[in-house]
This record gives sequence, C-alpha cells and structure tokens, in this order.
Amino acid sequence: MSSTVLVINSGSSSIKYQLIDPASGSSLASGLVERIGEPAGHVEHRTDGRVTEQNDPVPDHADGMRTVLDLFEKVGPALGDANVVAVGHRVVQGGKYYDGPVLIDDEVVGLIDRLSPLAPLHNPPNLTGIRVARELLPDVPHVAVFDTAFFRNLPEAAATYALDREVAEQYNVRRYGAHGTSHQYVALKAASMVGRPSAELRQVVLHLGNGASASAVYGGRAVDTSMGLTPLEGLVMGTRTGDIDPAVVFHLARNAGMSIDEIDDLLNKRSGLKGLAGYNDMREIHRLAGDGDAAAALALEVYAHRLRKYIGAYAAVMGGIDVLSFTAGVGENDPEVRASAVAGLEFLGVEIDAGRNEARSKESRFISPDGARVAVLVVPTNEELAIARQAVSLL
Ligand code: ADP
Repeated sequence: MSSTVLVINSGSSSIKYQLIDPASGSSLASGLVERIGEPAGHVEHRTDGRVTEQNDPVPDHADGMRTVLDLFEKVGPALGDANVVAVGHRVVQGGKYYDGPVLIDDEVVGLIDRLSPLAPLHNPPNLTGIRVARELLPDVPHVAVFDTAFFRNLPEAAATYALDREVAEQYNVRRYGAHGTSHQYVALKAASMVGRPSAELRQVVLHLGNGASASAVYGGRAVDTSMGLTPLEGLVMGTRTGDIDPAVVFHLARNAGMSIDEIDDLLNKRSGLKGLAGYNDMREIHRLAGDGDAAAALALEVYAHRLRKYIGAYAAVMGGIDVLSFTAGVGENDPEVRASAVAGLEFLGVEIDAGRNEARSKESRFISPDGARVAVLVVPTNEELAIARQAVSLL
C-alpha cells in the first residue's frame, strides 16, 4: 500500500491542507478552513471530484483541525486507512537554523517561536497549526518545511545588507528570502525538463503569485533571491511595493505624520498593483488597461520593468542564463506578463515563441522556440507536493 503525507499550511485565519501520495504525486484530498475566529466560518473538503462545504463558525484553529479530521472520517478518505506516514507543515521563517526539513520536537517548536519577530504574521499561526496537529495526530512524525530553507546558504555577498554590522548581527537583519520551497521545486523540475544536470545550469525562477519573488539558481544552489528580511522586498506584488527607497519611510513619518504601523500597512497591504491601479488581481489590471485605464497600463509597465531588471541582474550574477522559468498564479496563466517580462532580452539569448506562450495549458512546457539559447519554461508550482516529498525524505 502506498504511503501518504498530510500537508498543512496554517495561516492567521485559515488552514489549508492536502493529503498527498508523495511517490506518485497524486492528491487524494484537499481543502481549506477559512474565517477562523469570525462569526461565519467556511470549510471546503475535496476528494474524488466531490466538494463538501460547511458554513458553521470555526472558533479557533483546534476546532478547525478537528473539523478537518471529522471530514476525512465522514467523507473520506479515512486517515486510518490512508497509511499517513508524516504530517508536513509549511513554516515561513526558519532563520539561520534550517537549510532543510526538520522533524518537529519541542525544541524545534521553541525555535520557530523564537523566530516569530522575523515573521510576525506567519510563524505564530504556523506554530498554532503545528501544536494543534501534534495533539490530534500524536502517532505520526510531524515535519517542518521552511520557506527560507532553500535560501539559507545564499552566498554571504548576496545575503548581507550593507548595514552597521553590530546592529545587523544583534537583530538578525539579513536576507532570508521566501517561497523557497517553490523555487527549489521549480528549479529541479526545470532541470529535468531541459535534460541537463542541474549542476551545470544557470537558472532564473520567477514565482509570480499574489506575493512574487525571483531567484537565481546556479548549479542547483540558490545564489540570490529578491525577498529579503521579509517578503516585502523585490518584485512588484499584488499589494506590496517590492523594492523601494527606505527613505520613503522616513519621509512619510516626518511629512505625512504616519506611524510605523500605518506605513507597514501601506507598504505591505495597500501598495503594489492594488496601490497603483486599485486591484491586486492581475486579471482586473488587464481588464482595466484594456478599457483604457492609464493607471492600470502604468501598473503593468512598472511590474514588467521590475521583472526585466531582476532577470538582467541575475544574468549578471551568474554570468548568463540557461533556463528562465515562470510559475505561480500570474506566471503560469498570464502570457501578456510573460511576454512583457522578456521583451528586449534577446541580447541575453532570452526569446519566446508567441504561439507557445499563448497556448493554454496546465502542464509544464517550453515557451521558447526550438534551438533557443535560453530555455524559457512555464512550470506549475506544487508546494504541497514539495513539502510532502521533503517530509518523507526525513523518515
Ligand atoms: P498566492 O500568492 O496567493 O499563492 P497564486 O500563486 O495562487 O497566489 O496567484 C494568485 C494570483 O494569480 C491572483 O491574484 C491573480 O493575480 C493571478 N492570476 C490567476 N489567474 C490568472 C490569469 N488567468 N491571468 C492573470 N493572472 C492570474
């Protein structure tokens, strides 16, 4: 009988989960609990093409997790029969401690807790999910898979901010990156698609979802990434600025009378595509731009300009590019963004074939022309599968 892994991604008001067979990569069930702690909750459980929904209030994560386990019993597949060999937990910040998955024990729980100041919105709810799941499923090993792990061993030159050294050390200020599980998964998949050992490949991965990040992967190892101390740095995102002069913060504090919390909210939640054009969803931005909205058209240009800058920068860091991969919601589904991101990069050998780029597909695929110097790919990411595979790798 094949074994399965229950993958859990616990957020501040939600729990996403998936039961995965890591060997075949197939998903046996998935679902989410939303609006935890709000007057009306929402639970969705999918298995065998069927969706079961509930709208009862979900007071807390423990209650949410119990509901999920009940659904597995009532609707299936029964976890008792599914040979669950591990529970894999997504954890955002692993700091300097983890460059790979780790079996969770009380010490690991303590470290994740201590890293919370570096990821105040993510580590605490990740930890709540871990605590609740360990209590409810005490007989299986629980594994933490960190979003930062793939970037833990960035070259020091890439990870270090040119900040006063003592302050940086005392407060752990350095580039940790994020979305690492996705970047690693896509880089591995891309290497298998081009049929060359990843040891010799210079890759750029663009993870373009609501959050967005770029990475440079040389010989299978991450050598740079666009997210920094937090996921605010780098590319233009749904609601985040990405790169911005830090002096904007002082300027707004001094001249607009904004507090640190207000500026935090502005840069993280009211900027990016949303700040530029009113919506964080790329499809809305295209619709508006198509209707002649100048702000939306500019938002698309700012977004693509930033992408081109990063591709060029990473080509410089690695001395060239062999593979460029697009992934996540925008990267997988948006031919216009892909085309504008690479426009003018022929000098690097980056070209795409318009027909391939525009063809609709859910599969991994080449969008560069045959014989192109750089393989340009669309690679659907699968962070849950990557977490499941990393979890079993420890057993
Ligand atoms: P998250 O970062 O929340 O995991 P996803 O990777 O699922 O996000 O990406 C979500 C984003 O993908 C949406 O906000 C939307 O902007 C974008 N998106 C989804 N489908 C399309 C599409 N067909 N065309 C352009 N953008 C899309």
